[in-house]
Order: sequence, then C-alpha cells, then structure tokens
Amino acid sequence: MSTEGGRQRGPLHAGEAALFVDAKGRRYLVDLRPGGQFHTHTGTVGHDEVIGRDEGALVRSATGARYSVVRPTLADRVLAMPRAAQVIYPKDLGAILVAADVFPGARILEAGVGSGALSMALVRAGASVVGYEVREDFAARARANVAALGELALERYRVEPRDLYEGIAERGLDRVALDLPEPWRVVPHAAAALVPGGILVSYLPSIHQVGQLRAAIAASDFGLAETFEVLHRGWHVEGRAVRPEHRMVGHTGFITVARLLQPRHEEGREG
Ligand code: SAH
Repeated sequence: MSTEGGRQRGPLHAGEAALFVDAKGRRYLVDLRPGGQFHTHTGTVGHDEVIGRDEGALVRSATGARYSVVRPTLADRVLAMPRAAQVIYPKDLGAILVAADVFPGARILEAGVGSGALSMALVRAGASVVGYEVREDFAARARANVAALGELALERYRVEPRDLYEGIAERGLDRVALDLPEPWRVVPHAAAALVPGGILVSYLPSIHQVGQLRAAIAASDFGLAETFEVLHRGWHVEGRAVRPEHRMVGHTGFITVARLLQPRHEEGREG
C-alpha cells in the first residue's frame, strides 16, 4: 500500500472506501472494515472478500449478483458523500480547476465551503486552501470530507468560522474561489488579497446574480472577465444503439472568472 497525492495504491485495505458497482452501473460507496458486511437487495458481500485484493476485483453477493470493486474517484466521492449543503457537481469542478488555473502550491481562499466538494477538488489539485464558512456544522462536514482524501490532505486545508462579506485576512493569495449568494460584495476584498494577475472565480446558480457580479467586476481593478456554463451530455453506447442519453442535468450554475489587473488610475499618470 502507498499513497501518492492523497490517493491510495496497491491492494484494497481496511479503513479506506471502496466503490461497489453492480451490473446496471449502480454505485455504492462502502467503508471497508474487517468482518464488515455490505448489504444489498441481492444479499450481502463480506468486506473480507475485498480487503487485500486489487482494484477491479469481481465479487458476488449471497444470491450471485456481481459487483466490480474499485477505489472511488473524486467524482464518485462527491456524488456519494454526506452533504451538508448543495455541492458543486463534478462537471463544474473540472471546469473551475482549469478556468482558475489551479496549480500545485497555489494559495487559495475559498468560501463558503459548504460540504467541501470544491475544497476536495482544489486540495486534490495540489493547492493550499483556507476556507471561510459561517456555519460551523458545515465546516466540520467539509473537513471530514477533505480528510477522507488521505492523511496528508488536511495539511493543506484549514477552515475558519468567518463571514467573507466582512473581509479577507490573508494577503498574497493566488486565487479566490466563491460559492456564496452575493459574491459582488467580495470583489473589493478579493482585489486587496490577491497577487497581481490573481484569479477570482465564482459559481452562481442564477444569471441575475451573474449580472450583478459582472457589474461589480467592471467597476473594479479586475478585468478579462468571462462567464460560461458547462453542458455535459452523456451518450448511450451499446452495439448499434449509439445515441445521446435521454436524460441530462439541464442546469447547475454559471462560472465567472476575472483577473486582477493594475489599478486604473495608473493609466492617467503616464500621459
Ligand atoms: N462549494 C461548496 C458548496 C457551498 S454552499 C461545495 O462544493 O460543497 C454555500 C456555503 O456558503 C454555505 O455553506 C453557506 O453557509 C456559506 N456562506 C454563505 N454566505 C457566507 C459568507 N458570507 N461567508 C462565508 N460563508 C458563507
């Protein structure tokens, strides 16, 4: 067994989570422990049948139903983990990591942390994250979800019980990542806390909120603003039956990014 970047390798072992996937693709997240039982409508599977085996092991329940067992991906965890607040979905997490150009060692302020789905993605990408969260119960849930990524994850993650609208204590931040209802109130605080060229990223469910945020950005030292949404359409691929899935998630949220530029009043000084 070894951990690299917070991910376990080698045979599955007691104390970690495993993902059981049935013939229909249904997924179950199970914390493996010696002597434990995974209960399903098709009967039980003993955890001991899985512990010590390599990922991809095929096991059968008491009635013969088959399950493939692998380690969960970050997306599997986000969709299965206990949630205190609405999470940002995997399709948007991936887009946020690239739009905000998150890199190993990046210093990021994130608020509010909610259930910690975005926190997990940022920490997993190698960033050092400080979270502000007004609800202590949510902060505790987020910490537990990040801790499940591996023992080293919490070394790069801290949550403080603070209201971000009141200001940002940190300075020299590389990124500010927002998932709260009134991000326009944070724009001046973010401008003071970010390094030159630093990136502000905000996730918002309603386009009215986006309009208000963009107006605040336009009146600030931020520029290069962009807003987009991510439409993810799965395909059904089975023999000659190849077509888009009938169902898709129609709407989650809009992602807005902007970069901290030099103050505007400097333009006038040269001429
Ligand atoms: N991005 C998170 C979900 C955040 S839900 C995830 O992926 O799991 C929004 C969170 O913002 C809630 O937990 C709420 O308590 C918090 N919040 C709202 N206003 C806030 C503020 N002013 N300062 C800090 N946190 C705030």
